[in-house]
Amino acid sequence: MPELPEVEITRRGIEPFVLGKTVTGVTVRNPNLRQRVPRNIARVVVGQRVERLRRRGKYLLFECEAGSLIVHLGMSGSLRVIEPQSAPRKHDHVDLIFGSSALRLRDPRRFGMVLWSRGDASHHPLLARLGVEPLGEEFSPDFLHRITRGRNVGIKQLLMNAAVVVGVGNIYANESLFRAGIHPRVSAGRLSRARCARLVEAVKETLVAAIAAGGSSLRDFVHSDGSSGYFQQHYYVYDRAALPCRVCGTGIRVARLGQRSSFYCSTCQT
Ligand SMILES: [Zn+2]
Repeated sequence: MPELPEVEITRRGIEPFVLGKTVTGVTVRNPNLRQRVPRNIARVVVGQRVERLRRRGKYLLFECEAGSLIVHLGMSGSLRVIEPQSAPRKHDHVDLIFGSSALRLRDPRRFGMVLWSRGDASHHPLLARLGVEPLGEEFSPDFLHRITRGRNVGIKQLLMNAAVVVGVGNIYANESLFRAGIHPRVSAGRLSRARCARLVEAVKETLVAAIAAGGSSLRDFVHSDGSSGYFQQHYYVYDRAALPCRVCGTGIRVARLGQRSSFYCSTCQT
C-alpha cells in the first residue's frame, strides 16, 4: 500500500510534468473508485492550470485557480507520466492530460480517489480533520507530549491515528518506535518529555530515510514500465518476526495491537 513516502516520491516525480501546465483533457475509463469520480470532472478541470502540487497526508492536491484536484492512491494506486496516445492497460482507470503528456492512474483494487474541490482543499471533508504533518514543524516534542497527556491508548495506536498525526502507517510506526527504543504497547500518557522528543525525531528520520530510499525510483515515473513504483526497504523490525534484531540479536517479536501486527525487539524497546 502506498504510504506517505511513496506519495511524497510520487509528488516529486510528477511535479516537473504538471507544474504550470494546463489540463487539456480527462479520460475516465472506470469511475468506480472508493468514491465515484465526479461525472463533470472534465468540465471543471479542463482549462485549469496547476499552480502548485502539494501533499497533505496521503492526498495529492493539484492546486489550480478555481480549486484543487484531489488524488488519493488508495491501496494499490500509482500515477505515471505517459504519452497521451499510449494504449491503456487493465486497471488504468483515469488519465489527466496536459497537452503532449499525461498522468495515468492505475489502481487494481480501486480504493483510490480522483475528486475536485472548489476553493481551498484544506476545508474539504476528507482533509479538514486531518492531524499535523509528521515532517512539519507542528509535529514537535511539545506537541506530542501535550497531546498524549491523559491518554491510556498504546503509543503505537496513537501514532497511527490520522486525527493526531497523518501518514504514519503500520510500517513506519513500527520502525519509528524501534529507533526511539519505545515498546509499542507503552501507554501514550506515560511517555516522558524526553521520550516524546526521541520519538518525534525517530518518526521524522524514518520517513526521511524512506523518501531518500525511494528517490532512486523517481525515473520510473516517466515511460511507465507497468511496475508499481513502490520500493523495497531495509527494515529494522517490520515483517521480521523471529529474525535477529539488527542491533542486539534478540529475536524480533510480533503481537497484534489494534488489529495491526506490531513488530518489536523486547531488549531494545522498553
Ligand atoms: Zn534489539
